[in-house]
Amino acid sequence: MSEHETTCRRSGAARIDPSLLGQPPRVEGARDPELATLVATLSPAHYERYLTTIAAPTTRHSLSPEFAAVMTFAATELDRLGYSVIRRPIAVGAGRSENLLAHRTGTGAAPRGLVAVTAHLDSVNQEGRSLPAPGADDNASGSAGVLELGRVLAGRTWSNDVVLILFGGEEQGLLGSIDHVGGLDTETRARLSAIINMDMIGRKNTTQPGVMIEGGTASKALMSELVAAAGTWTALQVTTSLNPFASDHVPFIDAGLPAVLTIEADDRANTDVHTAGDVLDTVDPSVALEILTMNLAVLARHLEGRPPTP
Ligand SMILES: [Zn+2]
Repeated sequence: MSEHETTCRRSGAARIDPSLLGQPPRVEGARDPELATLVATLSPAHYERYLTTIAAPTTRHSLSPEFAAVMTFAATELDRLGYSVIRRPIAVGAGRSENLLAHRTGTGAAPRGLVAVTAHLDSVNQEGRSLPAPGADDNASGSAGVLELGRVLAGRTWSNDVVLILFGGEEQGLLGSIDHVGGLDTETRARLSAIINMDMIGRKNTTQPGVMIEGGTASKALMSELVAAAGTWTALQVTTSLNPFASDHVPFIDAGLPAVLTIEADDRANTDVHTAGDVLDTVDPSVALEILTMNLAVLARHLEGRPPTP
């Protein structure tokens, strides 16, 4: 089996057991006014600027200079927003790529909770490294989402801590996230209350915009919070899956941590993934902004240290 087949969402989807899928009823809860103010600060203009900048180079292959240049763009932006940014080298075969971590400390008493917002920045063309890999949906869409959530979260203080992570090496077998989770100490693992990964959040593959929320046993509570947030704050049709595969939430879930993937509905219908055809024209930012809204509503609750809304 090739490297591509082990990491591709499309090939992996064939293994999904239907009994692990759910279509929870949509429940529209009461909107918290303070959270409504925060949600209103999500900006299509900012998101689209991030998306366009990240998807501009011909490739973001993990080992390419273009990947490093886009990492520098993200690092500069997150530093400007007030985050403490670290770029950590990772091995990709005989070469080197990197992960970016951007921390912001809360004002609560220690030990504070910690939330992680993650996406892979790298792209790939399955036919060869020298070929165009614009990776607009996979995964400029999710990486731009990390930057936009980072921008919005930086607009106020929180009780708990946040870390934004952009991974390299995802397309070579989740190398960045495996490296990251392997390096987490016991204290940090215990503080993590929510890990939200975004991978392909910008294609409208279905008539109604939708999202798949995918997690494991340790993520069930977080998945329920996201389902509730989708009903209250968005028009998204939600599917859930307890069959996590082929993205950076998997190493966290394998470590027993509460991680989810949020991904556009019916992502396997996007046959442009890992080809030169994964271009900006095919991305619908309004789908991404709905998914960001859902994620933001849940992240804010965790950062405030308040119990989730039922
Ligand atoms: Zn991806």
